[in-house]
Amino acid sequence: MTDQKHKKPGAASGETRNPSHKKQLHELVAALLDSSGNQRDYLISVLLSQASPDSGNEPSLKVLRDFSAPLLEQLIVQIRAGRMAPLSQVLSFFKYIGTFPVVAPEHIHTILQIVHGSENVFTPEQTELFDKIQLLHLLAEIGDYSALEKVLAGLHSDVALACPSFYAVWQMAKAKMQMQKGSLREFTSLWLNLVSDIYQAEGSESALLMILYWINNLDWGEKTAAKKILLLKFGIPLRHAENILSARLLFEIFSLEDKLVSPQEKMNYARQLFKLPSILLSFQQHQFLNFYAGNYYSGMRLNLRQSIRYYQHSNYYLHKSWIQLQSQFKFLHDNLTPTQFADAMHCLERQVMDLESQMSLQNNAYVETLYGNYDQIRELYRKVEELSVTDNLTGLKNRRYLASNLTYMFQLAARHKATICFAMLDIDLFKHVNDTHGHMAGDQVLKNLAKLLTRSFRRSDVIVRYGGEEFLLILFDAELDAVNGLMEDLRQRIKEHQFSFKGQSINITVSIGVTSESAPCLTEEALDACIERADTAMYSAKHAGRDKVVCFPRENQA
Ligand code: GH3
Ligand code: MG
Ligand code: MG
Repeated sequence: MTDQKHKKPGAASGETRNPSHKKQLHELVAALLDSSGNQRDYLISVLLSQASPDSGNEPSLKVLRDFSAPLLEQLIVQIRAGRMAPLSQVLSFFKYIGTFPVVAPEHIHTILQIVHGSENVFTPEQTELFDKIQLLHLLAEIGDYSALEKVLAGLHSDVALACPSFYAVWQMAKAKMQMQKGSLREFTSLWLNLVSDIYQAEGSESALLMILYWINNLDWGEKTAAKKILLLKFGIPLRHAENILSARLLFEIFSLEDKLVSPQEKMNYARQLFKLPSILLSFQQHQFLNFYAGNYYSGMRLNLRQSIRYYQHSNYYLHKSWIQLQSQFKFLHDNLTPTQFADAMHCLERQVMDLESQMSLQNNAYVETLYGNYDQIRELYRKVEELSVTDNLTGLKNRRYLASNLTYMFQLAARHKATICFAMLDIDLFKHVNDTHGHMAGDQVLKNLAKLLTRSFRRSDVIVRYGGEEFLLILFDAELDAVNGLMEDLRQRIKEHQFSFKGQSINITVSIGVTSESAPCLTEEALDACIERADTAMYSAKHAGRDKVVCFPRENQA
């Protein structure tokens, strides 16, 4: 190894460090995990001297990161290989931390049973101590350091390793306090002690949970990649355990930046998290996860039902988070002096604002997805409707269209006092076409006639295949005389048109009955009456020898 390599700052992974350093670190960590008392203090001072050789000086945050990454890595690797405890108080206790403050007597009882063993009656002192521990945790979480310092000062001798859970919360709060003060050596020293203690008292998984908290309490700055490497060092089996460690671990990996963990990977972690018992995650974590999943699905434009479901869950947990926040307010109010409470309120304000902004963000996203979904459904409806009002053979509108879609047109016509004309067109002796050329030829004629009709009228006119070989034309804003002329032209054009099917040419004629309506035609009955008049006129044309246009006589109109 060259000197240059020697001077390289420690990277996230121990691999790039000098192997002799790595070996030394390995030995130190192994000794530390077994140590106690003076020997422990000595080992910690040796370790810390690597971070800042001049023990009077605090390392910078950058130096602390560079020093902590390989140290944490060694700890994780060695603890993982170490002793697993089948039952751990810390693991059972820490799953409740996300629900603090716990105030319901039966829940306090459950937690005290975990901490003190299965006694049935707990002394007021025991309950009081638990409240102090809850207070410590909450103050450390919200970052109210002045109140935290006071509570810490009043606690020193009450909490012993005999009760590892309380001890852990206490040490963690102290470490947070040191970080806040900039005493980074003390911060590291506290964590090293806590991890070793918990490892000896409780075994691997509890110690790893402590390390996870340590990693989270370290400000990684730009070095989030190092954080990711450490989180992955915990290993897959631990991620699949069903305890607070696996839940926190998965959530931490899930929460890394997108550039470190792709959205798709994140969704895989999210899916694993959704499978865990819900107590293992806090309301905020649930809310965040669900919101992410909702966004993911709506962003992928797939499975909108899923997306909406997740948004709904997310809103539900947001609501729960509010309720929890309220109970935190109350708990702090009851356990702090009025001035301290005022400070704590100040610290909680950020959380309130967070929730508030999430609330509106959330609702916007939720509403947007609902709208998006609504648009899709409407589009589907439109398609279904279009299909159901369209005639398969000719592509013209069918009779169903009349009942449901013309109201708007009729209202428009009524408002403009426009006349509407109805014409019923029936192919003459169509049976004969089928008999002579076959049914397929008949179909072809119907299709081509439909095309001819479509070409002959305005887009605003409505052409309906009313029956087998009957077509209804509805022409808006057209006077009867003009329509009469139009229909004459049409009859003539159809008569002259050469229809053909597989080389056979086919000629047809049509009979057309026409009527007009100038009164508002807004009810179904009024519409039916108009169609009937056109039909009657068409039959008159048939009776008059076919191939004719007949107008419904005005004097007969009701
Ligand atoms: P007219 O109307 O002049 O009195 O005589 P017609 O032969 O056209 O009258 P009718 O109403 O008795 O017969 C209509 C025929 O139209 C019956 C049926 O075979 C034919 N037809 C109805 N729908 C279709 C269709 O979709 N395809 C084919 N090929 N023929 C059809
Ligand atoms: Mg007919
Ligand atoms: Mg006919």
